[in-house]
This record gives sequence, structure tokens and C-alpha cells, in this order.
Amino acid sequence: MLWVLHMARGSVGLAMSTQPPPNPVRLGDLVGTETWVWFYCLDCGHDVFRRPEDVPLAPDVPIYRIAERAVCSA
Ligand SMILES: [Zn+2]
Repeated sequence: MLWVLHMARGSVGLAMSTQPPPNPVRLGDLVGTETWVWFYCLDCGHDVFRRPEDVPLAPDVPIYRIAERAVCSA
């Protein structure tokens, strides 16, 4: 299981929710912004920071769904 922490301009928020937001931020929305996406693997502790444009997922994936689709690279 992977959790994703979305950090933008000093604000920190866990991208976890049981209800989809009405207008979810999508991965493509973060490209070109000062945002890093933090991946942390709960199974092995591996973590990595990626720029949104370097996350190998479709740009229309909502941020809160990245964790479901991410795969540990360790
Ligand atoms: Zn792992």
C-alpha cells in the first residue's frame, strides 16, 4: 500500500479521502507548479520525491487516486 503526500508551496496535506472531492486536482494540474509528490511505501519504507511531470501516470488521474495506482519501485 502506498500513501501519497501532496505538497504545494509550503502547504502539506495528505491526499487521502473516502469521498471524492467535487473538483479533484488532477496530476496534470500540478505540472509546472512548485509541487513535489511524495511516495512512501508502507511495506518496505522506500520513499521517493517526484515532480508531477515525472510521475508515470496519466495526467488526468486525480491526486487522491495516485496511491491506488502507484507501484513500489524498490
Ligand atoms: Zn516497497
